[in-house]
Amino acid sequence: MDAARSEGRHRVVIVGGGFGGLQAVTGLAGLPVDIALIDRRNYHLFQPLLYQVATASLATSEIAWPIRYLVRRRPEVTTMLATVVGVDATARRVLLDDGRALPYDTLVLATGARHAYFGHDEWEAFAPGLKTLEDATTVRRRLLLAFERAECESDPQERAALLTFVIIGAGPTGVELAGTIAELARSTLQPDFRHIDTRTARVVLIEAGPRVLAGFAEELSAYAQRSLERLGVEVELNQPVSECSPDGVVFGSRVLEARTIIWAAGVRASPAADWLGAPADRAGRLMVLPDLTVPGWPEIFAIGDTVTIADPDGKPVPGIAPAAKQQGRYVAGVIKSRLRGEATPPAFRYRHAGSLATIGKRLAVIDFGRIKLRGALAWWIWGFAHIYFLIGLRNRLSVILSWLWIHMRDQRSARLITQGRQSTDSGEAAPR
Ligand SMILES: Cc1cc2nc3c(=O)[nH]c(=O)nc-3n(C[C@H](O)[C@H](O)[C@H](O)COP(=O)(O)OP(=O)(O)OC[C@H]3O[C@@H](n4cnc5c(N)ncnc54)[C@H](O)[C@@H]3O)c2cc1C
Repeated sequence: MDAARSEGRHRVVIVGGGFGGLQAVTGLAGLPVDIALIDRRNYHLFQPLLYQVATASLATSEIAWPIRYLVRRRPEVTTMLATVVGVDATARRVLLDDGRALPYDTLVLATGARHAYFGHDEWEAFAPGLKTLEDATTVRRRLLLAFERAECESDPQERAALLTFVIIGAGPTGVELAGTIAELARSTLQPDFRHIDTRTARVVLIEAGPRVLAGFAEELSAYAQRSLERLGVEVELNQPVSECSPDGVVFGSRVLEARTIIWAAGVRASPAADWLGAPADRAGRLMVLPDLTVPGWPEIFAIGDTVTIADPDGKPVPGIAPAAKQQGRYVAGVIKSRLRGEATPPAFRYRHAGSLATIGKRLAVIDFGRIKLRGALAWWIWGFAHIYFLIGLRNRLSVILSWLWIHMRDQRSARLITQGRQSTDSGEAAPR
């Protein structure tokens, strides 16, 4: 199988239309190459705002864009909706799940990561994670259904379990989810229910480590914890979870009955390393060389969340969007220099701009290294940064409007229970 190809042109296959893959496509503009961009989804997803879809603050279409549309002005780019299942590196072919094989001269693997359950994959059924739009709408449905069921429940113990929301993992996603769910329960939903007081809902954030937002400076972690507690979130630190089930969670020696559990801990890389039999770390991340090529295969690059690499000074590059984008840009530069017969650029070096996390709809923390910000000002900077990185004017305006509405009127536009009133995903706790 040959993607539409002009005779003799160099073929670049890019797997993954996420932050890294798209940036590589952008960086290759103007070069005499044919690019095939493969993704198993037809959209590029802005994952940093997934938690807002999960908490009914934004609609799915506000944070995702069709990949085909994004590259419409690039005639040399062919978009393919397909799932890659392997790579025949010797024959230089990418293997697709429908049996097709796509030849390449240069391959860029940018297939990202998913959440991991530390060897307890069976927990996923009871504690969905947040990585895809489907995950976000599943979490949203479970959250909203829990309130609906509580409204009709006469047994106080069961009602309490329905109104207990557990988030496991206190990194940025866990903190953002906990703060927003607390606000949803304390203010947004409260006037709409007749038989329950949604303000009595418990939001419990459980973390195995000693502080929330472990990647941030200690003072910002402490501020985030205080702010969450002010919103009514119960923060449990140094508490590894030892069991998740339809009944709730076990952490330390405690059993907490809860019908809604959300997993925000741990990542597992895509199987890119397995496809190539390449070295990987414990999270399955492919260990690339300093020029982001795969050991033994100089024509194969791997970037973003699916790889692990340290900076020349030994600091590991974090699994965040700016790192994936910088790697995509770097790889495009290496390909460009090879095609032009120029010297290879120096080893990849990551430039960290800062770490950001929100706590509810008004507060945030930002760690720029020497400069640390917290509170409302940090929230505004966080908001502007995210609006800036969204794609397209329509989406920017739409998100600004949604946020204004939440700020001024406490209304969340996407409070929709989709995929049915009863559970259809296998893991839903049976309605009681
Ligand atoms: C909930 C959440 C919140 C986050 N918040 C932030 C944040 O605030 N700031 C920040 O900087 N980062 C954040 N991140 C991390 C950031 O989103 C990732 O670091 C970034 O997306 C990595 O980019 P990537 O290109 O490596 O992978 P992705 O953006 O995940 O893209 C991978 C692409 O590959 C496709 N793919 C995977 N496997 C296959 C296959 N076999 N065949 C075909 N296609 C495939 C996927 O469909 C996807 O489109 C967050 C992540 C999550 C999940």
